[in-house]
Amino acid sequence: SFQERVVLSALRDPLTRLYNKRYFDERLDAELRFARRHEAKLALLMIDVDHFKRVNDSRGHLVGDTVLTAVATTLARAIRNEDVVARFGGEEFVVLLRATALDAALQLAERLRRKVEELRVEVDGAAPELVTVSIGAAELRADHVDPSALVGAADRALYVAKQAGRNRVAS
Ligand code: GH3
Ligand code: MG
Ligand code: MG
Repeated sequence: SFQERVVLSALRDPLTRLYNKRYFDERLDAELRFARRHEAKLALLMIDVDHFKRVNDSRGHLVGDTVLTAVATTLARAIRNEDVVARFGGEEFVVLLRATALDAALQLAERLRRKVEELRVEVDGAAPELVTVSIGAAELRADHVDPSALVGAADRALYVAKQAGRNRVAS
């Protein structure tokens, strides 16, 4: 129905059709409570497209949008149903992994990194765009008092991956 579509669209990013930050924030809060109550694992991946500004600068914003959507679709296809992938902002994505410890999160991150690296985004018959991502991984720790602490840990790991040369995973 129209009402259902309105409700759903409030949770989705219009460009990529992934969940938006608003939905992610709500889910993060809920998953964090669940993990604490049940002493379950919870992991988070923070994913940022490498040198994305170059794509916009060389091919234009519309091709940039197409590349971004291709990355989003690749991520969404590669994760499990119970995991949540969302557009965190601009060219950044997050994946929330239920019942997942850091070692398994790092393995998934490496798989995602490789799938994006294998992407060939062709637009208007031009040479395909190559795209890579850097990924920071973190797992919920006892000293993470609120959701932003877990996000902060993944963000710092992402920074490490960028500093180490991009197109890689760090924790
Ligand atoms: P780094 O490897 O350090 O992440 O480099 P970067 O160029 O990806 O980083 P920076 O943050 O400088 O640039 C991100 C760019 O992403 C700038 C912004 O214009 C672009 N961007 C953000 N959202 C969108 C979008 O929805 N569509 C398009 N086409 N570009 C976007
Ligand atoms: Mg960024
Ligand atoms: Mg970037």
